[in-house]
Formats: sequence, C-alpha cells, structure tokens
Amino acid sequence: MDEFALISAYFKECGHSPYDVEQDIGDDAAVVKAPLGHSLVMTMDTLIEGVHFPKNTPPQAIAHKALAVNVSDLAAMGAEPAWFLLSISLPESNAVWLKEFAQSLRQSAEKYAIKLIGGDTCRGALSITIQATGIQQKRSILRSTAKVGDAIYVSGELGKAALGLQNILYDVELPAEIKQNCVNALNYPDARLDVSKLVREYASAMIDISDGLLADLSHILKASQVGAQLNLDDIPMQYFIRQQELYHYALAGGDDYELCFTVAKQQEQTMLNKLKDTSIQVFKIGQITSNNLQVLTSSGTTLPLDSIKGFNHFG
Ligand code: ADP
Ligand code: MG
Repeated sequence: MDEFALISAYFKECGHSPYDVEQDIGDDAAVVKAPLGHSLVMTMDTLIEGVHFPKNTPPQAIAHKALAVNVSDLAAMGAEPAWFLLSISLPESNAVWLKEFAQSLRQSAEKYAIKLIGGDTCRGALSITIQATGIQQKRSILRSTAKVGDAIYVSGELGKAALGLQNILYDVELPAEIKQNCVNALNYPDARLDVSKLVREYASAMIDISDGLLADLSHILKASQVGAQLNLDDIPMQYFIRQQELYHYALAGGDDYELCFTVAKQQEQTMLNKLKDTSIQVFKIGQITSNNLQVLTSSGTTLPLDSIKGFNHFG
C-alpha cells in the first residue's frame, strides 16, 4: 500500500470538531477558520517506542495516549480542542496494526471532539507526533499566576499509571484487584476536559500532571515565584500506595494526566458549589505559600523530599 492509499484508508474522517475546517486532508496543507476574537492554543507531543511507551504496547493504547496527552495540555490551558495533525513514522505498513491504531484514534478523537485535518507519514522507527490546536475560551490558565494563599487542588487519584509501568517493565507484583486498573491508567489516560470546563473560570493557575505531582506543581511554583504546603493525607492516591507507604508513586510517578490547579480563597466556594451538581470530584491538597515546597504528614513532620525517588531527577 502506498502512502496515499494508506492515508485515505486509515486517516480520513477521523474525529469531528465544533470549529470550521475549510480544507481537510488531501491538499498541500489544511485550512481552518478560527472563531473571531478568540486566540488559538497550540501544543505538540511525540511518543517514541522504547522511550515513551514500552515495546509491544497495543496500537490502541499508543493512538489513544498520543491524542490524550495533547488534549490534556489543551485542558490544562483551559482551551477547547478543535483540530490536530498527526505525524507517524512506521517501520512497516502492517494492516492489522494500522487498523487498530486508526480505530482507536478515531474513537478518542470523537470523544474529545477534535478533528484530524492533516499530517505526515513516513517509514522509520515507530514514533507518533501529534500537534493539537485548541480555541481559547475567556482566558488561558497559565502556570505563572498562582498567588500566596490560593488553595491547591488535584482532579483525581495519583500513582496508578506509575504502578502500571513498574508492573509492565519490571514485573513488580501488584494486588490482582488493582493490576488491570493500573495498566489501563498507564495506557489509556483520560484528558480531564470535563474538569477543565468546570474549573477554568475559577483557577488562578493550572497544569496537567505528566511528570508527577511534585515536579509539575514545581513548574507552577517556579513560574509564579511562590511555594506550597501539601498535606500527604489529603492527596488522593491508590490505597495500595498509601497502605505500603510507596508515596513516590503518587508524588513523583508520571503519566497520571490529572489536572493540578490553584484557586483564590474568594473563588473557592463558588467553584465547589458549581461542582456539587456534577459527578466531578476535586481534592484540596494544600495551599500556596511564599516559598519552599513542603509535604506535611499527619504526625506533623515534613516528608523528606530528597528521598522521593524520581523527584527532581534532572534538577
Ligand atoms: P506533501 O507531500 O505535500 O507534504 P503528503 O503526501 O505528505 O503531502 O500528504 C498528503 C495529504 O495527506 C496532506 O493533506 C497531509 O496533511 C495528509 N496526511 C499525510 N499523512 C497524514 C497522516 N498520518 N494523518 C493525516 N493526514 C495525513
Ligand atoms: Mg508531507
């Protein structure tokens, strides 16, 4: 199958967008119509086999994750997904693999209401790059605008994906009842657009957790020139992690793709009232302080962060 047949067999009609497309896949470039007066928000992520996902990861998982991590970045900015481009490098044209990849990509694109409008296809080591564009709603939620006294929230349980990765890569034993759940968290992360939609009006700063809570919260702290105090007991985590005190999975494990955001005290109750009528839960884990990052335990001591494996790996 040549490149053109492959594109039209697998990548035409993938997803849908509430925003206009003037020229779809098939010309030299795609043309879209940006809604008047709104800014465009753009992001791009690459997944390389052996680097970002283990060999033998199912094609369904690769497709889902490649799109979800991009949509997660849009969610973290408070933007609405609109269109995406896909650059795919494949070692061979394997029809079964491509069919499963394309089906899963289509499903996720439908779910997130984002449309594939173009891309590039070549032969080489397995690697997927997606560039996604979103439409800014009222304002973009930056990392640099958290203020001392703001409450810090996360949108869900942390550490499952990191446990799943340990299980796959190093055969680390997990209790049978959580194993599949952890592997699914790693392979099929959900971009929290649902949370973003509800909290973006109130959030003073926001980030998605791709590299671990402490590392990603630190990006907010650095950009906003503030610190934070977290309460270990309030951080939602897999019960197995808490039970075994394997806190580094929840604090420094990557690939969770939950949102971490800050909210000014005056906005907090209004936000919580709005969330009450929904099925969406958020968890208050601490507050912004003037400097330093501390995690308090229930006995009042601070957790020694240097001992948190994986945190500040490149610091
Ligand atoms: P060119 O040589 O002009 O770059 P291509 O042959 O690479 O054109 O692509 C032809 C059309 O197919 C373009 O509209 C391009 O955006 C689209 N396309 C190529 N690869 C992909 C892909 N993996 N997914 C979606 N669209 C693709
Ligand atoms: Mg091209």
